[in-house]
Amino acid sequence: MKLLRYNERVWYSQFEDERDRPALGYIKGRNFSIAVDAGHSDSHVEEFYEALKKEKLPFPQLTVLTHWHWDHTFGMHRVNGLTIASRRTNDHLKEFIASRSPEHDENFRNMDITIAREYADDKEIVVVTSDIEYQGKLMIDAGGLPVIIYETDSPHTDDATLVYLPEDRVVFFGDAISGVYPTWVADKTLTEKLRKHVESLEADSFIGAHWPIFTKSELIANLQEDEW
Ligand SMILES: [Zn+2]
Repeated sequence: MKLLRYNERVWYSQFEDERDRPALGYIKGRNFSIAVDAGHSDSHVEEFYEALKKEKLPFPQLTVLTHWHWDHTFGMHRVNGLTIASRRTNDHLKEFIASRSPEHDENFRNMDITIAREYADDKEIVVVTSDIEYQGKLMIDAGGLPVIIYETDSPHTDDATLVYLPEDRVVFFGDAISGVYPTWVADKTLTEKLRKHVESLEADSFIGAHWPIFTKSELIANLQEDEW
C-alpha cells in the first residue's frame, strides 16, 4: 500500500477495488495524529500502519469514522489509540452486532465479492463501536491543526461525517457522494443538499474513499451528474 502526500501534514493511502478497501486519511498535528476511517479489517489497518512506518509518521492517536459501512469500520478493533464516530454510525454498528449469528455472518461474507476476498479463509469478523461518540459537530485541535468533524446530509447513508481541515482547505468525505449500496441509486434531494454544502465550503481539495482526489469544481460537477 502506498501513502500519498497532500502536504506536509495531510496524507492518504491508495484505495483498492479488489477488496473494496477505501483510502485511509492521515492528519499530522504537532501534538498527535488523526486517521480518517479504520479500514475493512485488521489486515487493512496493519498495511496502513506499515506504510506510515515507512514514511516515519507516528501512528494515529485518534481514528475518525466517516460512516458505518464495513469497509470503513471493521478494522476499528485493531487501531492505535481511540476511535470516534457519530451516534448514528454507532447505532448502525450496534444493529449489525445485535443481528450477528453464524448464518448472518455467512450472508455478510457472501453479500459482495469484495467482502468475500477481504474475509477469505474464514478470517474472523470483529465489529465494535467507537470509544467516543459525537452528535452534530466537533472541533479537534491536533496541535496547530484544527480539524472539524461534523454530520452532513448524504445520498449514501444517513450517518455521513465530513472531516474538514479549514487551514489546509481539505475535506475528507468518505463515500458521501455515492448512491445507496448496492444499487448506487442516489436520492436527488440529498445529492443536491450535499452539492450546495460543498459549494459553500472554503476548501480546494476533497479526498474520498474510492476515488482519486477531487478539486472543488470536479466534485460539484460529479454531484450534478444524473448517475449519482
Ligand atoms: Zn459506504
